[in-house]
Amino acid sequence: MCGIVGYLGNGDAYPVMIKGLKRLEYRGYDSAGVAILENGDLKLYKCKGKVADLENLVEKSSKTGGIGIGHTRWATHGVPNDVNAHPHLSGDQKLALIHNGIIENYASIKAELQSRGHIFLSDTDTEVLVHFIEDVRAKTGVPLFEAVRMALSEVHGAYAIVVIDKENPNQLIAAKKSSPLVIGIGSDDEYFIASDATPIIEYTKNVVYLEDEEVALIDRKEGLKIVTIQNQSKTPYIQALELKLEAIEKGGYDSFMLKEIHEQPRSIRDSFRGRINLQHGIIKMSGIDDHKDKWIAANRIIIVACGTSWHAGLVAEYLFEEFARIPVEVEYASEFRYRDPVIMPGDIVIAISQSGETADTLAAIELAKERGAFIFGVCNVVGSTISRATHTGAYTHAGPEIGVASTKAFTAQVTVLYQIALAVAQARQTLSQDRVTRLMAELNSVPDKVEEVLKTNAIVETIAEIYKDSRNALYLGRGYSFPVALEGALKLKEISYIHAEGYPAAEMKHGPIALIDEEMPVFVIATQGQSYEKVVSNIQEVKARKGKIIAIVTAGDKTVKELADHVIEIPKTDDSLVPIVSVIPLQLLSYHVAVMRGCNVDQPRNLAKSVTVE
Ligand code: GLU
Repeated sequence: MCGIVGYLGNGDAYPVMIKGLKRLEYRGYDSAGVAILENGDLKLYKCKGKVADLENLVEKSSKTGGIGIGHTRWATHGVPNDVNAHPHLSGDQKLALIHNGIIENYASIKAELQSRGHIFLSDTDTEVLVHFIEDVRAKTGVPLFEAVRMALSEVHGAYAIVVIDKENPNQLIAAKKSSPLVIGIGSDDEYFIASDATPIIEYTKNVVYLEDEEVALIDRKEGLKIVTIQNQSKTPYIQALELKLEAIEKGGYDSFMLKEIHEQPRSIRDSFRGRINLQHGIIKMSGIDDHKDKWIAANRIIIVACGTSWHAGLVAEYLFEEFARIPVEVEYASEFRYRDPVIMPGDIVIAISQSGETADTLAAIELAKERGAFIFGVCNVVGSTISRATHTGAYTHAGPEIGVASTKAFTAQVTVLYQIALAVAQARQTLSQDRVTRLMAELNSVPDKVEEVLKTNAIVETIAEIYKDSRNALYLGRGYSFPVALEGALKLKEISYIHAEGYPAAEMKHGPIALIDEEMPVFVIATQGQSYEKVVSNIQEVKARKGKIIAIVTAGDKTVKELADHVIEIPKTDDSLVPIVSVIPLQLLSYHVAVMRGCNVDQPRNLAKSVTVE
């Protein structure tokens, strides 16, 4: 998920790597490391903290060597510390490897290697991969390039990797699947490799973007060779970089927020990768498996969170109640901590926070802990304060979120909470196995559906153009779509500064209906499902008062289409998964409106990314 830089050439690798890692700092990271090869000597430096900390660590004598790999890590497996930082070494200390992404089946590979004597120093999935490559090479005697290919053919998950071999200072080996990797071809037989082009652009404009499941061999004498994991050779396609540095940082998008919105098919998938096993119909989450008795006996769940995380908590309320039949209360962390909340035996507190540093949520956890509650954390940042303060938890794997308005973290939170609810339902036997399996399959199809929804961007932009000058907006939804209405309204107000309210659709007639006139855009999540007919009636009520209706509907819908001023179609999914899919057009809408109004979408006024004050 974070930064990779590699160099092979006639100059010194070290300065290229350090400069490159600094260029990648915008991606957010928690530790950094380099490995440099010179005269059969493999020099390894890594530490928790910033690239500047790494620089202080590297001895002067180690700053030479014409081949090297550098990494900034954003922890997914194991807390950020010196040992878990990359590069990781093989057991025989000959191979050094850096990795972005998640190796889904690392646990089974690790167990198998351990049974044959491999000893692991870190908690990472990455170290397992380098040992596995070593193992394949030792067993088969094939060259390293072939061993990497063979090992990767047995790996599930997402990766961009670069490997070097102490005994071969003439080669860099790289491969990727789902995580990006780009190779720069310089003049004078120089090669650069990086997770995006930012570290490369100042040296060369000639680049090769590796495709998924391709393995690249960069050899001093023979140049660049690419084969697929299936062992088919490919001709490298060299293209000229035209993007500016700033545009590359944002993946070609105008802002981090837009980039992060578009990353969602991947971040949602990463958040269930390795956890759901469709074939056997099981969900593996250690925070549930290791405390099954507590979840089975739970009398009540209290969810504490703030902002967008609180909205994810509201979705979870519906999920836990429907699937696991446990009563749920969703609390603003700031309110919970200053009340005198009643915590009873059998209560489980779930704390949700993207950063894992939210001060109010942390204080709520401390209070609940004092009163004897069992506390489960859902955070995006591994090793964050909240992840340490809770008894157990599950990480979202959204990757670093830079835009202040949360987008991919929200959908990742809902994805993780969804799996927790299903796993608990399974443990409590409140859902049939058949239904669990069907819902898991449906969850598995959500990333593709989100991909589909992203294609509505042009329609959403047109709608944004029409309503960009509105002073107010109303968002309506029922059931699972009520929290989405709240989240849609929050997104609009936080980045475009238009006053917006989210409401349960039926509540509208108890107040906000008074606001409706021909000036008022009303965004309604009206997908087909349990409360469809009721929502259609609510739309009629808005229409009767001349409000403008922008409806998010299930693809192919006719009824709402006739009533609404605009519709945005999304693919059909189970009611319980609609929030993940239907929030996407609302995120896009607030983005476009904000841009059209000249607002800074990544850093909206008065807001901070990680709210560490109460
Ligand atoms: N899964 C790896 C780890 O936790 C790689 C993380 C990354 O992409 O930076 O070390």
